[in-house]
Amino acid sequence: MTEIRLYNTRTRRKDVLVPFDEGNVRMYVCGPTVYDRAHIGNARPVVVFDVLFRLLRHVYGPEHVTYVRNFTDVDDKINARAAETRREGESELQAIRRITEETVAWYREDMAALGALPPSHEPRATEFIAPMVTMIEELIGRGHAYEAEGHVLFSVSSDPEYGSFANRSLEDMRAGARVEVAPYKRDPMDFVLWKPSDATQPGWDSPWGRGRPGWHIECSAMAHDLLGESFDIHGGGIDLAFPHHENEIAQSRCAHPDGKFANIWLHNGFLQVEGEKMSKSLGNFFTVRDLLDQGVPGEVIRFVLLSTHYRQPIDWTEAKSEEARRQLRRWGNLVGNASSDELLPDAKILEALTDDLNTPKAIARLHELSALKEHDLLAGSLKILGFDLNPESLWGGAWGVPSAWEGMIGDLLDLRLRARLEKDYERADKIRDALNEAGVIVMDRPGQAADWDIGSKFDSEKFSELGNLL
Ligand code: AMP
Ligand code: ZN
Repeated sequence: MTEIRLYNTRTRRKDVLVPFDEGNVRMYVCGPTVYDRAHIGNARPVVVFDVLFRLLRHVYGPEHVTYVRNFTDVDDKINARAAETRREGESELQAIRRITEETVAWYREDMAALGALPPSHEPRATEFIAPMVTMIEELIGRGHAYEAEGHVLFSVSSDPEYGSFANRSLEDMRAGARVEVAPYKRDPMDFVLWKPSDATQPGWDSPWGRGRPGWHIECSAMAHDLLGESFDIHGGGIDLAFPHHENEIAQSRCAHPDGKFANIWLHNGFLQVEGEKMSKSLGNFFTVRDLLDQGVPGEVIRFVLLSTHYRQPIDWTEAKSEEARRQLRRWGNLVGNASSDELLPDAKILEALTDDLNTPKAIARLHELSALKEHDLLAGSLKILGFDLNPESLWGGAWGVPSAWEGMIGDLLDLRLRARLEKDYERADKIRDALNEAGVIVMDRPGQAADWDIGSKFDSEKFSELGNLL
């Protein structure tokens, strides 16, 4: 069995994935709170964990992997949005329902446009209230939670291991806490498992009155219900590591002391835009839908997101997006030459992915495969990375292709790269000079395939003669 190594936030090292059950490898990823379109940062975990899902399916077989990604459809941010946007004749609860339904549908559409496979299960928190109530009762029963003024709180001091995931002591946490101070809390770090709802808020009957769950218990209960007490991988953005994941771990460990909860914890780094934190006030905040509507193909978004290692911060820039568009267009053209129906990924691509999802390394290998004209391996490798490129679809519409010249430029550059790999520098230079003559600017970049552009002196007649070189 191919060995997959993943950087585990819990152990702070790369661990070999040893599934609890190879017949059912299980992964849970925290999904969106549904009150708004997914922004480009929210797309990062979706794409990263989609690559992991595809890799697991490749290694263990598609029917032996279960991937759960939830929808948080009960949350105070949703209630606030409903209050702001309530339409005439609509109750608060109806507005909430409208917003969550609409946002879930948008999310599915946008993530499909990025080439993300639907997870095996997409549970909505509101459909799992009963397991949440059961879990809270278990926590109370075991002395890890207490009821106070219609709330139920998790008692952090009841759990000697609380803080071990984030590697922080309770003392430090209390000192730096920005938590809500509430008179009913025994400890400022105690967090809400259940809270009371008034008539305008979503609520469910419970042993503690009509109320709704806290955010953390939602994930613990859904993961337990769908994946069991012990499962293999838990993921999300790095912002979720504390307190969300610390709290999920505390709840799950204390409610099910015989279980291991999640073995490997993965966190993606944050995305920023043109060197700045994305924010509405800076005007650099955009959604996946904004980009798609501007004509940026989903594949291009996906490619940019995978061009940086998932644990590093990533900078979204227009330049990267333009380059990704050009690159994918070339590869899309080449995969049309693939001869086999059964496309398998290249061994070096698999090697990169099984080493903590090293997608930049995998992409570097795609460049080599295209230069070597390994079209079947290129197609198979693009496929495991989630790119289903169809040559026809890449020559128009959103791809904004200037002309069929592009394919020829790509071929000539491949030829040149090949000549260089074969140390035939004379021929390599001849190709570059000929391209320059015709007005195609070739830009060499260390460690990457050359970039190119059509200059203002582009000469189509000279250019068409370059076909002789091929
Ligand atoms: P939320 O709906 O805010 O809970 O976020 C959904 C997912 O997107 C979580 O896994 C977050 O960690 C992740 N996320 C949010 N903002 C960013 C960002 N700027 N870069 C990368 N991931 C993000
Ligand atoms: Zn979660």
